[in-house]
Amino acid sequence: MTPAAAGPRRTLETPVEFLTGVGPRRAEALRRLNIFTARDLLFHIPFRYEDASTVTPIARLRVGDDASVIGTVVSKGILPTRKGLRIFQAVVQDASGMIEVSWPGQPWLDRAINKGDQLLLTGPVRFYHGRQFAPREFVNLGPDGDATSAGRVLAVYRATEGLSFKLIRQLIEKHLDALLPQVQEYLPTALLAEAGVPALPEALRALHRPTSVADALRARGRLAYEELLFVHLLQRRAHDLAKQARDGIRFVNKKDLTSRFREVLPFELTKAQVRAVREIVADMCAPARMHRLLQGDVGSGKTVVAVFAALLALENGYQVAVMAPTELLAEQHARTFDRLLAPLGIVPALITGSRSAKERKLAATRLESGEPLIAIGTHALQVEGTTFAKLGLAVIDEQHRFGVEHRRALVERGRKGEKPDVLLMSATPIPRSLALTMYGDLDVSILDERPPGRQPVTTALRPENGRARVLAFINRQLDEGRQAYLVYPLIEESEKVALKAATKAFEELVAGPFAGRRLALLHGRMKPEEKDQVMRAFRDGQLDVLVATTVIEVGIDVPNATVMVVEHPERFGLSQLHQLRGRVGRGAAESFCILLGDVGEEVAERLRPFLETEDGFAIARADLEQRGMGDLFGERQSGVPMFKVADPLRDEELGELARGGAAALLAQDPELKAPQHQGMQLVLRRQYGRALELFRVG
Ligand code: ADP
Ligand code: MG
Repeated sequence: MTPAAAGPRRTLETPVEFLTGVGPRRAEALRRLNIFTARDLLFHIPFRYEDASTVTPIARLRVGDDASVIGTVVSKGILPTRKGLRIFQAVVQDASGMIEVSWPGQPWLDRAINKGDQLLLTGPVRFYHGRQFAPREFVNLGPDGDATSAGRVLAVYRATEGLSFKLIRQLIEKHLDALLPQVQEYLPTALLAEAGVPALPEALRALHRPTSVADALRARGRLAYEELLFVHLLQRRAHDLAKQARDGIRFVNKKDLTSRFREVLPFELTKAQVRAVREIVADMCAPARMHRLLQGDVGSGKTVVAVFAALLALENGYQVAVMAPTELLAEQHARTFDRLLAPLGIVPALITGSRSAKERKLAATRLESGEPLIAIGTHALQVEGTTFAKLGLAVIDEQHRFGVEHRRALVERGRKGEKPDVLLMSATPIPRSLALTMYGDLDVSILDERPPGRQPVTTALRPENGRARVLAFINRQLDEGRQAYLVYPLIEESEKVALKAATKAFEELVAGPFAGRRLALLHGRMKPEEKDQVMRAFRDGQLDVLVATTVIEVGIDVPNATVMVVEHPERFGLSQLHQLRGRVGRGAAESFCILLGDVGEEVAERLRPFLETEDGFAIARADLEQRGMGDLFGERQSGVPMFKVADPLRDEELGELARGGAAALLAQDPELKAPQHQGMQLVLRRQYGRALELFRVG
């Protein structure tokens, strides 16, 4: 009995090899695309659409365009070149005209493309004895060419060897009508209505057989919403469970030290700071442990917020640990805390590896005595020998620079089983919706407002032939007693090459334009202590110019530095440039950021958001749009499902709705046990198996 004779009834669970039109070879190819069942086939959705609005009539193609066309092959052949390269060429025609299409080095296409076939081609139009199309990708629609009949939208699927796009499309087309009625919506209707997306069967219909590209995009929204909703459900559930399990210290808002601090502060808090302080105080006074991320651009005033948290712990008789990733940053925090707290007569202890043994011993004794104290330091804070007798709050700056173990080690330095509250700080701006999706297991406070009084940094892109003028400008700034940074790109693959280039440039600068000035080179091969030493000299005004091949410490604060020159700006991402610019503009004098080099039009366009705004969140957004989400999500999302359809940045609004939807669902039915949630529970389990154990705990 052949599978086909087993009866026409095909369910969503039917293995693909039992579908009409699929033999063993095709089943094998389908499996390569992760398509095992009829359901998988139904959910193999197009990655792109073409229609009359995206396809250019051939007659209108101009040299320099990047376009998609659909045309029929009228002639074809292989051209040998003098260099032995074989070129497959075809002439394609549509109702408006003809164009030559060329595939250098791909003679085998002669077997895959026939006269009379209709091709969908995408790529640049260049000049070669006239217009010539050079496709980046193409789809052979075959001789029937039904796809182009007026108004029809062409769905383009991911294909694989032995299974062309066209076969996949035919296969889906053949089974769609039988399978669709078996699909049932499992997400709550109210949520779908709120998100403005169609129900699942209708969405799948529109994805495979759209009436317009807009129709398909709406349908895509249904799948994207589901992914976002599920991630938020999982994160929120994890968060709720963790909170239940996290017995913390219940601080009392005595408003003793904190009120006095507010009175002596030389400035008004920004609205964002007030909000963050309020959120932190509420967390600290609640019975569960605080686990909060404070995110804000460089200079947004995170330290002041952290000081409020520290004072709340102190006035409750607890100790505070503030941990920074480098000695230099720890020193800087200590200075800031010192300065801010001096009017209250509070002196923090600085604990770093380079403090003398005597100093460290003294601090250790005080900490062991249980005396309320703020200890600021590096990893040295969590090495053996430092015991906090009464640790109430751990503040961790640049949290991403510490591994989970480091953070845990610090948090567990307290005795008596009391668990300190944790405040993480980060100066890497991430749009709020993204932060909420990525750090769903943390609470997030965002400082999205600058303290008043900071001058904008004048930013410009200058060509290579303006170099002499830029250097002369720096010299004038140095004459006024200011300091400058010159940054060369860090090239991971060949730090050696970068170092050589920077060293050469450095020597030329010392010999020529900056003769007589005090320069130092900071590079990635230096030990952390050596780097700190150079940075310290620069901070203390013993150097005029810092030439760096390495990214300069994010949090470093040298108010007297007023010029930042970036060489090869094309090698930097927008967020990196923003971090670099953040090194200047920290004092009262006007500051400048100059991108130096010939970059071409395309790069100049890419750099534009950086030149036009100083809003770190806007720049982060533009950066993510340029680079895609990959990097960001790869790092943190371990154990959390990845997105196949959704893009948290582009789908920001959907993400917000999904977050609200997840909260509402869990408030009503924390374990998703209600009968109307069974379908959703089933899909969650099928899709995110392990993560779903969270729903069995409670
Ligand atoms: P961050 O740690 O976020 O980079 P800081 O906390 O170091 O920023 O603050 C940067 C500078 O701005 C510090 O000199 C600080 O005293 C000052 N500052 C902070 N908050 C305010 C405010 N609300 N108004 C004016 N200046 C402020
Ligand atoms: Mg800081």
